[in-house]
Amino acid sequence: MLLAINSSNQYIFANLANRSERYRCPACKKPVVLRHGQQNVAHFAHQVQAGCHSFTEGETIDHLLGKMALYQHFAKDYRVVVEPVLSQISQRPDLLVKRPRETDLAIEYQCSPIGKKRLQERNEGLKSLGLEVLWVLGPAYYQRRLSGELTCRFLYGGRLFFYVPKQKRFDTRFNFSKTDFHKLQYESQTGFAAIAASLASSAEKDKSDCSGRGTIKQSVVDQTKSVCPTSDLDQHLLYQRTKITLLMVQGRVKVDLINYLYERGHRLDQIPDWCLLGQAFGLAVPNWHFRLVLVLLLERVRLNHWIVEERLSARLRQYFYPSFQDHEKILKATYADLAASGVICLQGNKILVIKLLQFVAD
Ligand SMILES: [Zn+2]
Repeated sequence: MLLAINSSNQYIFANLANRSERYRCPACKKPVVLRHGQQNVAHFAHQVQAGCHSFTEGETIDHLLGKMALYQHFAKDYRVVVEPVLSQISQRPDLLVKRPRETDLAIEYQCSPIGKKRLQERNEGLKSLGLEVLWVLGPAYYQRRLSGELTCRFLYGGRLFFYVPKQKRFDTRFNFSKTDFHKLQYESQTGFAAIAASLASSAEKDKSDCSGRGTIKQSVVDQTKSVCPTSDLDQHLLYQRTKITLLMVQGRVKVDLINYLYERGHRLDQIPDWCLLGQAFGLAVPNWHFRLVLVLLLERVRLNHWIVEERLSARLRQYFYPSFQDHEKILKATYADLAASGVICLQGNKILVIKLLQFVAD
């Protein structure tokens, strides 16, 4: 930890601490010792490493450096509390950023792997105190390729945030899109600006920041559009069909789905082209699967029949990662894309099926 309490009950930063003085842990009040050396960042550690639930021992140098850097950055514009003791939930987030017109923001600098359950517990604990949480990821995350699922867990305002202490590098990734059988795509931005923008009040964010929420909204629309340069379109479709055929051969597609199609005289490798053109990020299944389910649901509604939009959405929400926040935008954009393709007609909260997408012939 970076902070401890001295004998006069004042919070003292480790780098300003005095070896001759006695310090205590702000959470459990037990004695801590000051550690620093040439390799180390000055920090405090419990004398006896047991019994303190609010503070994990053995912070890495990266973690201490990152926490310090994030503190120094945010303290320029905000009041920032380092390692606040939140005794109600026995948690100590790395930083607490006080925002004048908005809820306070807890910042967690995460260097080591964290399980889904623990992450959820920490998020829920902080949320129960009315705090928002921003996860900033360390070098281990920065260097590896993150899965869509992992990405969704750490999104804040549609962005991932990174800090790499060795390079003193702040980075954000945003505008995620995913084409089936291709790597996750995103834009990235270096520097502090994006993080600062994410901390601005929602009002400011909405009107001023084009690198923030506006772009994300736009990107959600773009992701679901069936866009593909015409020259590459045939190639793209062929590639997707080949890959899907391979999945079938390898027995990696649910038999239920194949049987369902077969009973209706359809084949999985002949699904409508539109199913192969999705690029939405946030789905726990491939885009083709999500779109195929939608096509089959519309087929069940039947031509020239109506369905309430919410009934359709209720069936489709299960296909997104549980931690993904923007599913409603993706659903809306997908319906809009179908409407633009002349498949459905949107009227208020209802959808009219005006064309059934055809499965391709042999
Ligand atoms: Zn303690």
